[in-house]
Amino acid sequence: MRDRQEGRNGAAGSREGAQSQESSVWETLGGLESPPTPSGAASTLVNRMMVYLRPGQNLDKLHAVLPHVDTGRSGLVLSGANAGKAMRFLCDIGFDAPVLMDPACYDDRGKYTATCEAPFQIPDGRIEGSSLEDLLDEQLRMGASAALTPTGYIPGGGIDILKAAARIARDLRKEAIFVVPLDASLLARDRFRRTAAVLEDVARPIALILGGQFDPLDQSKQIIPNLRSLAATVPLMAIRTDFNAFDLLAHGAFAGAIGTGGSVRHTVDPAEKPRSYHRRGQEQDQSPSVLVPELACWLRGSKINSFFGARPTIVPRCDCRVCRGQRLSRFLRREHQNEAIAHAVAVWSRWACDMLQAPSMRRRAEYWRNLCQGALDAHTVFLQQMRRMDGLEPQSALKIWASLPAWPVELGSAKV
Ligand SMILES: [Zn+2]
Repeated sequence: MRDRQEGRNGAAGSREGAQSQESSVWETLGGLESPPTPSGAASTLVNRMMVYLRPGQNLDKLHAVLPHVDTGRSGLVLSGANAGKAMRFLCDIGFDAPVLMDPACYDDRGKYTATCEAPFQIPDGRIEGSSLEDLLDEQLRMGASAALTPTGYIPGGGIDILKAAARIARDLRKEAIFVVPLDASLLARDRFRRTAAVLEDVARPIALILGGQFDPLDQSKQIIPNLRSLAATVPLMAIRTDFNAFDLLAHGAFAGAIGTGGSVRHTVDPAEKPRSYHRRGQEQDQSPSVLVPELACWLRGSKINSFFGARPTIVPRCDCRVCRGQRLSRFLRREHQNEAIAHAVAVWSRWACDMLQAPSMRRRAEYWRNLCQGALDAHTVFLQQMRRMDGLEPQSALKIWASLPAWPVELGSAKV
């Protein structure tokens, strides 16, 4: 699918050849019931939409989501200081779904930026002779279903760093998944082909994390189509995402993992301070982010209340297993966070279950596009109900997911 020659000769003919090859990949994939199964231990993760979380000091977040994790269709990706403790607990109770442990040295806590000389972080204080393989072993010994590499952040312009990491990842044990915490700029128009070529050559399962301030998908309109292209051609799982994991699971990724909170739905270059929408001088908003099912997006509890403030009786009710018909205006304080997290997992788990029952990949993608179109329309309906012109702008990724063709190649002879 990739045109490896393009960078050297830029020939129109080779570009056409690449496009035709790409069309053929989409045609074949569209008729399959499921994405191809990746090699090694990652095969146990196929068709699973997992929950990515920091379990919390008392494992409170873990306990909040656990009753709502669909063991047949989901699993857990643990990160943060209490990941080991959470893993021991899950082993003790005989938790019956895949669990991964992300060392997450790339994030605002780990603060490790990959270099060509040291793309993976080996923690200080290790005994002599410890290695990357030892770290992977440790995760497996603790009970992880596959081992995630401790990759540092791959910064913008870091294609040579990605290559250095890929060279090592290629030769790792079969239980390893190559974690790629990638600055989103490396997926934009002028850099994507080189990035994709490197990832394709790794020939092993890849766990992709997008890096950037706010929503990394906003950096370029090309990122979403490029990610789809990547999902169709390399064994990919998108982790630590918002609903990007749905879009990619619908377009060829073998699995995904959705974060329980804003800070675990993407990552930020550790050289930068994570920025938020909080304005200086304003009191810190303590309300949790709440998934509004009709809108397919997360809004702060305070935002839900201020938007519907004049007409509290039209705040949506939720029929998930957590809310049982209660309204979404009840999430206002920090102590409501765990219930908000559980509600989100319960809601999107149902979507994942429905989507994954589709008879073909093309149908999966149609399910997802329809869901996004419905959510986009619901923004307009809510504004009309409130007689407002603004104050509820759809996420730009949602607009793109809703407007792109469900399947990148529309065929008369659809193999569905
Ligand atoms: Zn709910």
